[in-house]
Amino acid sequence: MEVRFIGSGDAFGSGGRLQPCMLVTDNETRFTFDFGVTSLIGLHQQKIDPNTIDIVLLSHLHGDHCGGVPFLLMDAMLGSKRKNPLTIIGPSGIESHIKQLQELLFPGSHIMEPKFTVKYLEIDSKESIQFGKYKVSAIDAKHTVTTNPMSLKIETDKKILVYTGDGELTETLIDFTDKADLVIAECYYFDKPIRWHLNYPDIHNLKAKKTILTHMHQNMLNHKDELPEICAYDGMVINI
Ligand SMILES: [Zn+2]
Ligand SMILES: [Zn+2]
Repeated sequence: MEVRFIGSGDAFGSGGRLQPCMLVTDNETRFTFDFGVTSLIGLHQQKIDPNTIDIVLLSHLHGDHCGGVPFLLMDAMLGSKRKNPLTIIGPSGIESHIKQLQELLFPGSHIMEPKFTVKYLEIDSKESIQFGKYKVSAIDAKHTVTTNPMSLKIETDKKILVYTGDGELTETLIDFTDKADLVIAECYYFDKPIRWHLNYPDIHNLKAKKTILTHMHQNMLNHKDELPEICAYDGMVINI
């Protein structure tokens, strides 16, 4: 399983980094965790064909995490001429949220009919989704409540991959990372506790075998070279 950071930044371009998007490739299947406004740009920068993505998994409704989906869909219809199905998995209300976003960004585009299947699936903490050999599950995250925030997990019979999304440390999140081969953890601030986010002192509570830090504010980026943890950057590729 390969994880490629298309974007390792936060909402506001800290460090000149693109918004959150992690591309997970496992044999013939491709997921992304999140798809920020800049993610289509990032895919092209890294010479990744957007049509090769099968599933977009969205952690919550903030624009830096899902605001790029209308661009992905419009490009699929007009530019990339996508033919293969696309599945979008996200929190409660994801389909209407993306459709509203698309209509705001591209007025009148609701009349366009994609020539490929777009399937929306809602996920919550009660039920996992089986997608071929992949089990996708979620827990509620402690983040801005109106964004329906979740942390996400992909499991196969061999690997477990967790993405925290945005949110404070909770006992549920600690348990969710137990036995994971990798947790991709947001790490917003280094030494100042900030509400609704994981910060550097919280990271040490996560239980995964390996942790990669992302979604870093400049306050955190200032310290990244002095830390033992792996800090993501745009274009970073790791295999688990
Ligand atoms: Zn964010
Ligand atoms: Zn957020």
